[in-house]
Amino acid sequence: MPAQRMEQVPFSGIREVFEMCDRLEAAGEDVIHLEIGRPDFDTPEPIKQAAVEALDDGAVHYTSNYGIAPLREAVAAKFRADNGLDYDPDGEVVVTAGVTEAVFAAVLAFAGPGDEVLVPDPAWTYHASVRIAGAEPVAYDLDPATGFQPDLDSLAAGVSDRTTLLIVNSPNNPTGGVLDAETAAAIRDFAVEHDLLVLSDEIYEKIIYEGTHHSLAALDGMYDRTITANGCSKAYSMTGWRLGYLGAPAHLIDSLLRIRQYTTLCAPTLSQHAAVRAVGSDLHEPMVEAFAARRERVLERLADVPGMDAPTPGGALYAFPTLPAGVDDGWPFVRSLLEDTGVALVPGSVFGAVGEGRVRIAYSNSIDRIDEAFDRLEAWLDDR
Ligand code: PLP
Repeated sequence: MPAQRMEQVPFSGIREVFEMCDRLEAAGEDVIHLEIGRPDFDTPEPIKQAAVEALDDGAVHYTSNYGIAPLREAVAAKFRADNGLDYDPDGEVVVTAGVTEAVFAAVLAFAGPGDEVLVPDPAWTYHASVRIAGAEPVAYDLDPATGFQPDLDSLAAGVSDRTTLLIVNSPNNPTGGVLDAETAAAIRDFAVEHDLLVLSDEIYEKIIYEGTHHSLAALDGMYDRTITANGCSKAYSMTGWRLGYLGAPAHLIDSLLRIRQYTTLCAPTLSQHAAVRAVGSDLHEPMVEAFAARRERVLERLADVPGMDAPTPGGALYAFPTLPAGVDDGWPFVRSLLEDTGVALVPGSVFGAVGEGRVRIAYSNSIDRIDEAFDRLEAWLDDR
């Protein structure tokens, strides 16, 4: 029998879409993947080369629980240069197996039975980590009317004396929203007032088109209470390498490190050596340029589909529009569109209640395929 808490841990809602895609492709259908939240590029050659060299040098053993020194130094230098954050590479930086592990370690270390964790709605899968930790996720809304900024009233309504942790994600999956300076300052005030720890998931930091990235830890009074998570998956198209990292003040690192000592021990050694070449480099730039052009095309094409309105996404790889006119339920729409045309999207409800009535479009595909997907969608809507 599964442990009782597993009753609270749902399968990812995107799984059903993946399974349908697999089935259709096995039957020879041409599926256009706009459901996958990952860059479609190969990892840049110099990064792959660094891994090859490390393998030839015999980098096949465990590393320190913190990660290899050159990578911790590269990460600390990146935090300093990009975010104005002064984490000590010896004791305030931990290399993780993806941001997934950084999130999981932070939640397990700082939330348990009886605790509540504020998670954005819509959001990536934070609620599941919170459930696995035995704590209670409490959603706060991201408001479409403000380009999906965190809604401060909703935050205030969600906090209680049981809240231990606030999770913030900017640029955001699934909305593409980028936290603005005013809202970042309000979140700082809120976290300080309620004496909360903050987990800031900044994995899409480098994929930003409009606005400026704000690292919450850099704001007054935040360094001591914030864990900053970031990684190589999205910026350097390294999802399979499983390489993330976090920065946190020494007094928080102890607990994070103890979780890590009993789970993954260290991030994959070859990936750590490869990441030394990636972190702080400009190797992401050509990919971000390609994403910018794709985003433009998605927005142009959305403008021609009645009902599909999205705030202009300032970052990440996603648009999060409302459903086409005359369509009022996300799952039946996504299923039928996929069955009938091979165009794969994700229903917004998968990401939380605020996502009801929306779909996520991931532009991790070429402009030609994006055009083809919209041609099929428009023809399908016309035929209904
Ligand atoms: N955080 C967000 C907001 C994401 O969208 C994702 C992946 O989609 C992750 C974290 C996981 O990243 P990683 O591959 O570094 O584990």
